[in-house]
Amino acid sequence: MKRIVIITTGGTIAMVKGDQGVIPYEKGNLLISEIPLLKKVGIKIDLIEFSNIPSPHMKPSDMWSLSQKIDEILKDDNVIGVVVTHGTDTLEETSYLLDLTLKSEKPVVCTAAMRNIGELGTDGPRNVYSSVLTVLSPQASEMGVMVCLNDEIHAAREVTKTYTSNVATFDSPGYGPLGIVDEDNVIFFRKSLTREKILVDKIEERVALIKTFTGDDGKLLKYAKEIGYKGIVLEGFGRGNVPPSVANVVEDIVEEGIPVVITSRCFKGRIYPVYAYHGGGADLRKKGAIMSEHPIGQKAKIKLMVVMGKTRKLDEIRRYFEPNISRRPILYEG
Ligand code: ASP
Repeated sequence: MKRIVIITTGGTIAMVKGDQGVIPYEKGNLLISEIPLLKKVGIKIDLIEFSNIPSPHMKPSDMWSLSQKIDEILKDDNVIGVVVTHGTDTLEETSYLLDLTLKSEKPVVCTAAMRNIGELGTDGPRNVYSSVLTVLSPQASEMGVMVCLNDEIHAAREVTKTYTSNVATFDSPGYGPLGIVDEDNVIFFRKSLTREKILVDKIEERVALIKTFTGDDGKLLKYAKEIGYKGIVLEGFGRGNVPPSVANVVEDIVEEGIPVVITSRCFKGRIYPVYAYHGGGADLRKKGAIMSEHPIGQKAKIKLMVVMGKTRKLDEIRRYFEPNISRRPILYEG
């Protein structure tokens, strides 16, 4: 019998308000399968509890075992697709890891809630229902892993949480949603053309994400290497620029064979080595840093964990992050 599997991991969607504040509810995940709207869909739905944790507790090893579990489940011909419920805080990381690493091309839609189970206007049930409809859409398998909340469908690679509290928190800055769920209709507008699959049999969990700041002397970055991180994502400014002392540390770290991937605190646009001053992107690249063309630091961290599961060679890692930078410009010859 054809079916959809909902895999629950926890998050506000499975939380209730207690005396001290909002906390995980031990039966919170189970309630998801009892959402009355789901009966309307007319397809069998199975629920598997993976975990019941707040998403800031989600570790790279959890994301990786979730990916393996989903691939295992999707091997069953009767399983049409999977919906993952998760906390909103790190949903963009887990969904992107799934997008990069899942072998199956069957639809996988991640969802969450901003309002807990008992809260007025709770958004969880509607988001789960919309996600199930999205899995059932004939176009869903062409879209990669998706994130569906608040009637919008986003590509896992592009989506980020933009608002601490509002139900309209997920956005894909610079891209926009892939589509919408309107009433009971799933309508796709576009596909993401920048999706990648990096199939690996392990990931590197020891990847740090460090944000630079004005006046940074580079000591925090140095420390990250000293305490054993195997790869570092450095969130710089603008096009991918950092203060001079940070640039010197980047050079030392790269010389030891540790990849340093540069991202930006701007969440739109592309990292591009334009500036050749001390600490500018072009200078950093000359010193051996890798430019992440996609600017969001937490996305680059996930990608570096996955890429390092495949290779440790800096020039090979560079190719995954800089698909366009070294490409020659196409000149008009007509
Ligand atoms: N802190 C919660 C979590 O990410 C928030 C949420 O679920 O939206 O688990």
